Amino acid sequence: MPETITFLAVSGVRVRNTLLDTHAVTLPGFVHRGRTIASLPSLGLLTIAALTPPGYDLHYEDVIDPTDAEIDALPGDLVAIGALTARIDVAYRIADRLRGRGVTVVFGGLHAKVLPREVAQHADAVAVGEGEDLWPRIVADWERGSLRRFYMEDRPGTYDLARAPLPRYDLLDMERYNRITVQTSRGCPHDCEFCAASRLFGRYRRKPVPLVLRDIDAIRARWPRPFVEFADDNTFADPAWGTELLDGLRGRGVRWFTETDVSVADHVQLLDRLAPAGCRQLLIGFESPRRASLDGLDARNWKLRRRDGYLRAIERIQTRGVSVNGTFIVGNDADTPDVFPEIEAFVRESGLAEVQVTVLTPFPGTRLAARLAAEGRLLTRRYHDRCTLFDATFTPKNMSLEQLEAGMNWLFGRLYSDAAVQERKRGFLAMARSRRRAS
Ligand code: SF4
Repeated sequence: MPETITFLAVSGVRVRNTLLDTHAVTLPGFVHRGRTIASLPSLGLLTIAALTPPGYDLHYEDVIDPTDAEIDALPGDLVAIGALTARIDVAYRIADRLRGRGVTVVFGGLHAKVLPREVAQHADAVAVGEGEDLWPRIVADWERGSLRRFYMEDRPGTYDLARAPLPRYDLLDMERYNRITVQTSRGCPHDCEFCAASRLFGRYRRKPVPLVLRDIDAIRARWPRPFVEFADDNTFADPAWGTELLDGLRGRGVRWFTETDVSVADHVQLLDRLAPAGCRQLLIGFESPRRASLDGLDARNWKLRRRDGYLRAIERIQTRGVSVNGTFIVGNDADTPDVFPEIEAFVRESGLAEVQVTVLTPFPGTRLAARLAAEGRLLTRRYHDRCTLFDATFTPKNMSLEQLEAGMNWLFGRLYSDAAVQERKRGFLAMARSRRRAS
């Protein structure tokens, strides 16, 4: 019998802010981005699965909060676990139980990269960095019986995406997923204080377009008319490469969503190609309508300099039939209780098709986490389970915690009421039609 390796994604998100959880995030118009992300298959695990040497029986499993009996039923002589910070304690519980019955457990991913010593208390080995180069070494050492506790990258954040394997989409249960992830780029050239993308993912890298299309075609072979989420942070940061990508996607019958920055609206050649290439929605981090809240948010004040072009950018994208999902963050140092109505007013004025509001979250390893710790503002030393994007983790500067939570609750009630959602939908359709009529 070949030995079994299981790739285990610990997903799901539980918001701890009871006010939001019992009211706002359950509103019908609310799309919980964290929950959407958590319900996507783990591309990282599918990718390292593809780099496993032949001769093993491979499984992919997704769990949310398994019982002990369910953990005991998991297959695997070796289990590779990936989990978001908010779910890491569940992952530790699973790992401890698996190891208790002699299963070898390996952790990887962003949390493991940032806090390897903590993770090592629950693992036989920790991949500290990009898994593509580390995983084959880990499996080889496991085969030899000489597994080490930590595996470090030789040159952190430099894995060449031209070597990216085809993720093992074939391990997925097709019935379970209606969205599939593909990576086209890694990292981001900007450096927002709260974001892990620019520092922890290494320098910004693009995958050669033929490899992206290889992945897309493999998905199309299994899922008819698939909906793809690009697992990128900033897909169109390089407009020339983005144009090439869009030309490749055109005619493939794929509908897709991705995240990018507002500069996508500067480039007509990109904008005109989006809808014909299957783009349905772009998620753009506007972060705040308030200039003072944008000041200092990224290392070069790029977002502050972009603020005056926000409305025009939304119009240029949406009039081309691609909806914009605008994201905003509350709890910035310059935010006062007035920021909540300001966001609502901006969303209305802009005609955004969709909107997401989250609370500023100091994920471990970010510059923001280091600053708030130095300023003594973190509510607790350890707050992994509150990294849901909806739970407060630190003392705001210019409002109380109660004002922050009440403001979010108020804003969610306004933005996600049926009437507001329908108004945005109608507004987007009108915008999309206006250009068609004009041309
Ligand atoms: S622009 Fe977006 S992806 Fe890039 S560093 Fe800022 S928040 Fe992260």
